[in-house]
Amino acid sequence: MPESRTYGRRRALPARKAEQEGFDAGRSDGTVTRREAITGRVVKTGSGAAQGAGWDDVDKVASAAGGGDLYLKVTENRMVIKILADGPFDVFASHWIDEIEEGSKSVRCWGTPDCPLCAIGDKAKRFSACFDVVSLEDPEFPVLKVWDVGIKIARQLKEIAADAKRGPLNRPDLYFTIRKEQKKKAVEYTLERVKERDLEEEYGVAPLDDEALKQFLAECHNYGDRVKEPLDEEGMEEIVQLLMDDA
Ligand SMILES: [Zn+2]
Repeated sequence: MPESRTYGRRRALPARKAEQEGFDAGRSDGTVTRREAITGRVVKTGSGAAQGAGWDDVDKVASAAGGGDLYLKVTENRMVIKILADGPFDVFASHWIDEIEEGSKSVRCWGTPDCPLCAIGDKAKRFSACFDVVSLEDPEFPVLKVWDVGIKIARQLKEIAADAKRGPLNRPDLYFTIRKEQKKKAVEYTLERVKERDLEEEYGVAPLDDEALKQFLAECHNYGDRVKEPLDEEGMEEIVQLLMDDA
């Protein structure tokens, strides 16, 4: 059962159509053909780019735009990011369906009492809060990504957002670092605030200039946009059937 995936401003697409367009948006030839595919775009910063020196950029932009690489991939290496809004644009829970053999096992909960999977007693255990962020993993090539955070990091961010002294999350002089660590039983994430003035010295990262920041802000999601469309009734019914057959 493939999941439906859309990115951007599109809403209320039937799941099957959304799925098709999700594939289009993630085309691996690097062409960006749809509004949704703009996440992952690269804005070149710095004035040092000589004319004709664009071939490195071709590969970098292609790898950022293609391959469905829309989500921020947090690694063991501490990565600098800039959060672009003071809150998540999409928050949802997902059911984890091990019985799904093809495609993602994670199925967005409808979030309403009539969710067919909740109705048969399956609990939506995975929490997601999605933020637009600029990844400065490669400081020369900042990239717009969707950062899908779990409940622990979401709570830390909420605390900072609500704190007049430390927030808001999108304060102009505020950046964050994030990294993950594989502990015995689970993956643990470490989030830290970084002031713009310390970026260069502590991380060798130049802050985003106003122009780059403006371009990224123009490409952000709106509050209420869905990073992943829920399955329609028919799609849910198939999964319910799958679970029933298996039981
Ligand atoms: Zn549900």
